[in-house]
Amino acid sequence: MNIGIVGLGLIGGSLGLDLRSSGHHVVGVSRQGKTCDTAVALGAVDQASCDLTALASADVVFVCTPIAAIAPTVATLSAILSQDAVITDVGSVKSEIVAAATQCWPNFVGGHPMAGKSEAGIDVAEIQLFKGRPYVLTPLAQTPLTAIAVVRDLVQSLHANLYECSPEIHDRAVAWISHLPVMVSASLIQACMTESDPVVRTQSLQFASSGFRDTSRVGGGNPELGVMMAQYNRSALLHALKGYRNQLDQVTALVEQENWPGLEHLLSQTHTARTQFNGLS
Ligand code: NAP
Repeated sequence: MNIGIVGLGLIGGSLGLDLRSSGHHVVGVSRQGKTCDTAVALGAVDQASCDLTALASADVVFVCTPIAAIAPTVATLSAILSQDAVITDVGSVKSEIVAAATQCWPNFVGGHPMAGKSEAGIDVAEIQLFKGRPYVLTPLAQTPLTAIAVVRDLVQSLHANLYECSPEIHDRAVAWISHLPVMVSASLIQACMTESDPVVRTQSLQFASSGFRDTSRVGGGNPELGVMMAQYNRSALLHALKGYRNQLDQVTALVEQENWPGLEHLLSQTHTARTQFNGLS
């Protein structure tokens, strides 16, 4: 298959490495010439260009740019691709993108691989990044079944765990398990930095170990991506943030009241509940 990838960063580059290793011919497009050169050198693409017309003969195009550039990229591609080509994307938010992209390209299938790292860019692209990870497709009722089948097959070839739901359900679900954790983790880092005693602050920086590494990881990630999650999934994120603040108030009250049995009950519930989340058993 001739596959195009627009946006040669962590996700686009990682997809390219996997798709090439499955025998597809991959052409990449990115804004900067030096990103294109690195992608070719790393083996993430067969060839690369800064010009979207390089994708004219693609059968499938993965749009892997930052969220704000996805719909405009699909609009530009609509004047370049052959009519039966399929476009999919990897954006972390779906409702707005899927609505806009489907309007200009009916063969559009929204997608979101649930895999990432705190670093960004082509240099940190990784083969098999998606293996064993959820990969969510968000087709609409009118999305052609042939287009969905093409994207399903490619996602399965990545050895990802395929899920399908509406864009709205996707956005509400990821607000809880992806976008809220970014804001909570960032707030944790920021709160630690507000310690006014310089000795305590210095020591806390030195004593931080595995627990802090785990809980601060997503808050120390790509700032641009975090802002776009909030901008494009604002209402679902606000709902999750309010739910979290309510929960934090309950924990604060238990500690203030020295209600240790109540706190133990809560922590026993979360000890069990955590195992219900994918991959955390
Ligand atoms: P990234 O590493 O920063 O890569 C994005 C790349 O897109 C950049 O390297 C940039 O390359 C290129 N680019 C930017 N604007 C462009 C444009 N207008 N046209 C063509 N290329 C453009 O970001 P990422 O983490 O791969 O994220 C990309 C997408 O994946 C986002 O939509 C994000 O929501 C989604 N996603 C991210 C994660 C994650 O954890 N990181 C997980 C799942 C999904 P140049 O150097 O050439 O400008």
